Amino acid sequence: MPLGEFGLIGRYFQRAVLQQAGDPAAVALGIGDDAALLEPAPGCQWVISTDSLVQGVHFPEQYCPTDLAYRALAVAVSDLAAMGARPLGFTLALTLPTADEAWLGAFSDGLAQCAVDHRISLIGGDTTRGPLNIGISVHGEVARGRALRRSGARPGDLLCVGGPLGDAAAGLALVLDQPLPAPLDEASRDYLLARFWRPRAQCELGQALQGLASAAMDISDGLLQDAGHLARASGVALHIQGADLPSAPALRHWPARQQLDWMLRGGDDYVLLFSLPVAALAQLGDWPITVIGRVEAGQGVWLDGQPIAGDGGYQHFKESADG
Ligand code: ADP
Ligand code: MG
Repeated sequence: MPLGEFGLIGRYFQRAVLQQAGDPAAVALGIGDDAALLEPAPGCQWVISTDSLVQGVHFPEQYCPTDLAYRALAVAVSDLAAMGARPLGFTLALTLPTADEAWLGAFSDGLAQCAVDHRISLIGGDTTRGPLNIGISVHGEVARGRALRRSGARPGDLLCVGGPLGDAAAGLALVLDQPLPAPLDEASRDYLLARFWRPRAQCELGQALQGLASAAMDISDGLLQDAGHLARASGVALHIQGADLPSAPALRHWPARQQLDWMLRGGDDYVLLFSLPVAALAQLGDWPITVIGRVEAGQGVWLDGQPIAGDGGYQHFKESADG
């Protein structure tokens, strides 16, 4: 007998592993009522963000449901990381063409893996029939006044990133079966595919940056484009040194030009981009961050002394806006 909506929710989403992935003290009431109840810690502000994933736009046709679920949640949690927030709970609005149980089981497993990795509990959602669409709202908390914003970068600050760039763009090229310049070893292939399908939101780094970083955001649309947002929000110029951009060894299978293009314009890496007063660098201790440039008076994004024209990354509705 096909599973009805409620049977489906019960079996695939009302699982203990999903409901208790985060701090149990934060969830007063989870799945099963008309709405969930979250318990704010005293002195905290709520941090809320929503993302939707549409097939063919946010993820390729070639996907495994486990990876897709992992990626959908990690991408959403990354916005909490970028604010310096602690993840608490998320809701899932899932639209599915059919209730395929093998698909749902695999999707639920990936969601659970990601929820456990990021300590965030599933607290509710909605399940409907239609073209595949995944909407996730994440809820987190941050001590009042301590959230990291895009607007605080000041001339003289260092510009930093929280991890290697370009990996996810290389991973996507593998997913899409694009031709390789040279044979790729299995470990590198696995690494790059995981960086595309299973990004880790940098929540711990974001929380460590509280009180230190002057501005922060996560890189989802490519370094140059996202740096443009930070520069505008802060009213400053960001000067990036191309030679200082961090890349993983696996990326070095591609020609230098391709590597640089992916590091600058490839999206989906979900590492943090932030500005840091020079004096704060020592206080960050052992975090594996990389200084990629400097904040200066002025505007826009500069690469090796040259201004970057336009946004240089992925934008929805771009064609219609231009034409
Ligand atoms: P309502 O009709 O009151 O909006 P639903 O019948 O849609 O509630 O959902 C029943 C319960 O199951 C609610 O607590 C809702 O949050 C939860 N739920 C529905 N779909 C999902 C889902 N995909 N993931 C997690 N929880 C879900
Ligand atoms: Mg209701």
